[in-house]
Amino acid sequence: MKEKLVLIGNGMAGVRTLEELLKIAPDKYDITVFGAEPYGNYNRILLSPVLAGEKTIDQIMLNDKQWYVDNGITLHCGKEKEVVQIDRRKRKVIASDGTTAEYDFLLLATGSNPFIVPVPGNDLPGVVTFRDIHDVDLMLEASKQHQHAVVIGGGLLGLEAANGLMLQGMSVTVVHIQDTLMERQLDKAAGALLRKSLEERGMHFYMPAQTTAIIGEDRVRGVRFKDGSELYADLVVMAVGIRPNIELAKKSGIHCERGIVANDTLQTFDPRVYAVGECVQHRGQAYGLVAPLFEQAKVCANHLAHLGYARYQGSMTSTKLKVTGIDLFSAGDFTGDETTEEIVIKDAARGMYKKIVLKDNRIHGAVMYGDTVDGAWYFQLMRDGTDISAFRDHLMFGESHLGDAGHGGQNKAASMSDSMEVCGCNGVCKGTIVKAVTEKGLFTLDEVRTHTKASSSCGSCTGLVEQIMSSVLGGGYSAAPKEKPVCKCTDHTHDEVRKVIRQQHLLSIPDVMRYLEWRTPNGCHSCRPALNYYLLCAWPAEYKDDAQSRFINERVHANIQKDGTYSVVPRMWGGVTTPDELRTIADVADKYKIPTVKVTGGQRIDLLGVKKEDLPGVWRDLNKGGMVSGHAYAKGLRTVKTCVGKEWCRFGTQDSTAMGIELEKRTWGSWMPHKFKMAVSGCPRNCAEATIKDFGIVAVESGWELHVGGNGGVKVRATDLLCKVTTDAEVEEYCYAFIQLYREEAHYLDRTAPWIERVGLEYVKQRIVEDAEGRKALRERFVESQKYAQVDPWEERASHDVERHEFVPLKLVG
Ligand SMILES: Cc1cc2nc3c(=O)[nH]c(=O)nc-3n(C[C@H](O)[C@H](O)[C@H](O)COP(=O)(O)OP(=O)(O)OC[C@H]3O[C@@H](n4cnc5c(N)ncnc54)[C@H](O)[C@@H]3O)c2cc1C
Ligand code: SF4
Repeated sequence: MKEKLVLIGNGMAGVRTLEELLKIAPDKYDITVFGAEPYGNYNRILLSPVLAGEKTIDQIMLNDKQWYVDNGITLHCGKEKEVVQIDRRKRKVIASDGTTAEYDFLLLATGSNPFIVPVPGNDLPGVVTFRDIHDVDLMLEASKQHQHAVVIGGGLLGLEAANGLMLQGMSVTVVHIQDTLMERQLDKAAGALLRKSLEERGMHFYMPAQTTAIIGEDRVRGVRFKDGSELYADLVVMAVGIRPNIELAKKSGIHCERGIVANDTLQTFDPRVYAVGECVQHRGQAYGLVAPLFEQAKVCANHLAHLGYARYQGSMTSTKLKVTGIDLFSAGDFTGDETTEEIVIKDAARGMYKKIVLKDNRIHGAVMYGDTVDGAWYFQLMRDGTDISAFRDHLMFGESHLGDAGHGGQNKAASMSDSMEVCGCNGVCKGTIVKAVTEKGLFTLDEVRTHTKASSSCGSCTGLVEQIMSSVLGGGYSAAPKEKPVCKCTDHTHDEVRKVIRQQHLLSIPDVMRYLEWRTPNGCHSCRPALNYYLLCAWPAEYKDDAQSRFINERVHANIQKDGTYSVVPRMWGGVTTPDELRTIADVADKYKIPTVKVTGGQRIDLLGVKKEDLPGVWRDLNKGGMVSGHAYAKGLRTVKTCVGKEWCRFGTQDSTAMGIELEKRTWGSWMPHKFKMAVSGCPRNCAEATIKDFGIVAVESGWELHVGGNGGVKVRATDLLCKVTTDAEVEEYCYAFIQLYREEAHYLDRTAPWIERVGLEYVKQRIVEDAEGRKALRERFVESQKYAQVDPWEERASHDVERHEFVPLKLVG
């Protein structure tokens, strides 16, 4: 016969213990649960969003009543099922309505009770606490009938209650006994910033102020303070703290101090009785956040399953506030003392504040407001006790500044290591999420929540989980619309067209259109350039480029400007030039009366205002001076920007200029789905701005960091770190392989940034970094295609009169 396990307290910690137990010993116990609330198991943390109208009660259910049925658990729930007695001798519990259950093991998870300020009037109608669904119902009801709320308590819970009531349309004043909000989590500076942004949202504050009475007769009418002042209120929320709920345990003779005293196995002083959650005092500490309680739940389940190897040794906690739009993070001891040091950044105008407390070069505590993207990283360093002296000068700038030159916050997920914790509540690391997504084929946030529990508790890691999903799945995630056809001329998608071109060895645009039954005889301005590119990419040796299927700039090999003249940019390898080249440019500018000579953002010289008929002459003369087209008009490689690097710069660790020249010489002329830019920086100071390029290379002491998918266009995107390599040969191999993958798989007119966002960085890494054979094959195909690509179009047109008629003014033709 199975042993009997009884759980008292159907809340977050108790039921989590059952879940853990069912995972490791599903058939060990007959389980009975007593809960004093009339529901299944719900996510208490999300009561704040329910109050704020951002979620419904249904949405916060963790395990509905059917879950108990499905798992063979007997659930007694409702006020009348509150357990009022434990008969430890007979190993039996008795509920208020007389229901009983016997146990072999008992689990106490009775949570906490909200603290009620002991002042006259605290029991008047209209005075509520903020702990359960019933309280939220009361507040929502009151907000429909009343206008003025006073929330007593400027801590986490009070502010969440105040925010919720405000969003329900009430005028809300927060009364706090201290002069700093959330003083247990924030210092004065961060508290002041928080107050300012809450005031900007319309919240009022009355602080410091000590409540001495709640006034009213049939219903609350106001609050009185120690200095005699009063505030009008028709709803008063008490959110001044919680006390472990130990009455029942105490009454049953179980040893309690502030909480039910439990050891490292979560056993109370009665070996048949375990305890988890807020009711517990472990090593002198009681916790009021779910992350430690869930750790307790895991250990407790291990012992209830009689496995007996897990130990709970206490937790470090961190805090975030669940008020949408307010970023706040706090962990550890952020106050410090004479033995600690502080590093502080404050930019009040931007609402940003960051303080890190160090002791012996280890993080002791952190408080951040406004920019909390690195909170998880600091917390990890703190928990691991990492010695930060090696990167102390970068510490405040966050993880992104370490060996990952200039990453934006949005790429944080991609740069996190697998062992880094993402969901603090449930202790889920990045690796677990990535594994679940890839191995179980998950696509939605809900699926990830179900499989990993990440983001299923307080929800503050949801953004990060989403980032991880999108870095793994690319466009597969976020319910991207189904792939669109190339254009109105066909129902086929870009990928289908590319596939057919390869499989059927199609060698011309009409062939493709015939084979795929195009709806229009000659296609349109959208599909023709795309097909031209796809054919060129698939069959570099065989396909004959169709100039008429190119946009005007590519047809005339110059950029058309707003007055109808053109601009011409000769290539300057790696941004380096010579006096002879400069003389050539100057002579051309003089000879053709070119009005503007300008240095471009990509370190080349632009000759602006060239008449169309002068283009062949300009090219011929530039060619004579040894210069070729810079393809500034091309959907192809444009420039490789470089810094001066090791040769000249005091900081340079590698010869970035030589690397840039070499890469440009090898990659120029290659047609791509869109323009493609590269840059090489000689050290992480990154003067060539490589981290906003399609392919960026940053030298570091040990070699090179390779970055991909950046652009500095309308929507600036910092690159993703692809990998680090040590040799120049590797840089080239990875660079060519990346370019070829982009050439072969991106849709025409996709720049690398949207392409990577669509396919996912993980995919690109898998093809370029993890698959060495595949990488080499891509490289080979790129090198092969370059044999046919490195033709200077200026030279062709200027010397061989190719398409000469294009450049003759209309009045002369004929
Ligand atoms: C509004 C709100 C917001 C919060 N936000 C966060 C947050 O963002 N992050 C975070 O980490 N934590 C947050 N918390 C705290 C978190 O919800 C608690 O730490 C967690 O729920 C405690 O779990 P527990 O199982 O110990 O207690 P509970 O979840 O409270 O469960 C205890 C249950 O036991 C029942 N019970 C008690 N005595 C008996 C009895 N004799 N018989 C039968 N049933 C009994 C109670 O009715 C209750 O349902 C928040 C809490 C609240 C109220
Ligand atoms: S990136 Fe480094 S090496 Fe290059 S110029 Fe700047 S400081 Fe010098």
